[in-house]
Amino acid sequence: MSLLIQGGRIVTADADFIGDVLIDGETISALGPQVAPPADAEIIDAAGKFVFPGFIDPHVHIYLPFMGTFAKDTYESASRAALVGGTTTLIEMCCPARSDDPLEAFELWLGKGERSACDYTFHMGVSRFDGGAESAIREIANRGVASLKVFLAYKGAFGVDDGELFATLSLAKELGLIVTAHCENETLVAELQKRLLAEGKTGPEWHEPSRPPRVEAEGVHHLMTFAELTGAHVYCVHTSCGEALAAVQAAHLRGVNAWVETVIPYLVVDKSYAELPDFEGAKYVMSPPLRDVRQQPTLWNALRSRLISTVATDHAPFDFAGQKEMGRGDFTQIPNGIPSVENRVTLLYTHGVAAGRIDLATFVDAASTQAAKLFGLYPRKGAIAAGSDADVVVWDPDYRGRISAADQEMDVDYSAFEGWEIAGRAETVLVRGKVQVQGGKFTGELGHGQFLRREPTHF
Ligand SMILES: [Zn+2]
Repeated sequence: MSLLIQGGRIVTADADFIGDVLIDGETISALGPQVAPPADAEIIDAAGKFVFPGFIDPHVHIYLPFMGTFAKDTYESASRAALVGGTTTLIEMCCPARSDDPLEAFELWLGKGERSACDYTFHMGVSRFDGGAESAIREIANRGVASLKVFLAYKGAFGVDDGELFATLSLAKELGLIVTAHCENETLVAELQKRLLAEGKTGPEWHEPSRPPRVEAEGVHHLMTFAELTGAHVYCVHTSCGEALAAVQAAHLRGVNAWVETVIPYLVVDKSYAELPDFEGAKYVMSPPLRDVRQQPTLWNALRSRLISTVATDHAPFDFAGQKEMGRGDFTQIPNGIPSVENRVTLLYTHGVAAGRIDLATFVDAASTQAAKLFGLYPRKGAIAAGSDADVVVWDPDYRGRISAADQEMDVDYSAFEGWEIAGRAETVLVRGKVQVQGGKFTGELGHGQFLRREPTHF
């Protein structure tokens, strides 16, 4: 069975031309200004549309026991949401608690993906490092997981101490795994939280002051020191501020192999949202927190200069009713997360490309190609090339609409972007040659998604 996407403007991280893409089964077999299709080929007319490689969200949470509750989505809802937003591959954080057996945790997370409609893989969380954890990491790496995750925050829950951090990075270097890291100084967070609560400052607007930019920059600096002394390759997740970026830049000048991710909320919403009255601000609580609006030009510049490699989401959906509300009267008890797996690409296009802040090549690179390259998926993913998986997004740049929780696929009772206008949308989305979205709606098949085995590349 073959399929021809005809006459669209094909835009990848390094090419931009009007032409055709021929798909044979699950892979792209040919592309060019004009490709003659086999007689029985199905045709998708892409005239006036963009044709992008499927987008990759390298940082999501789907199954997540956290702060006494569970994130709302399942792979069924999250993968549908990802797909209608143009994302065809999810990289989920597998986050075992410190007391969990890592191999059992990996299998639990892996099992959750069976009903996924899009492809997926995991960053394996290391929440403890001992002999058992080491052999588990070796085993999980052999099973195709080429990246790890450590938390320098949330000590005692997910977090590792400095000895464990050193051991994890040393093992990662040996195995060629890249280590993704949540960088905040946990002691400073705990002390500032205590001080604010003692002063009667209990609302969501105090979340940001409890973890100011310097607390994040201190975490990044700490990680950079450990990366420098072990030679490991590291990736700072959800980077929110210029102070943290400066710590990475300084490390680059020392020869440290470090990459930076930001997430879509930091680019489009700011801490004033967490200050909304009537506890509304709780919808905008994540860590690191939303920053002063003056950080946004810094982040866009860093994206344009490619100091920031990727734009992810840190998707972690908790309902406002019953979950976010657990933190009424104590902001430290608000489950962290801003659901956005469905909105990432659309918001990046609207506020980046359509607003003139980034060009199309940067958009594709940051939302797809760089994640594929860093995490061992390229050129299977993140490219439109002969032999690549046929993960393709036909994008309508003329579409205009609004974001609303009322019609979202994410299983959560609010949208952080309610009523926002969007310019453009994913009209048709293919995962390995199968049409999963048509006319912006999910029309595909749950369970079509596959676990993606990856090889280590970061030696
Ligand atoms: Zn996260």
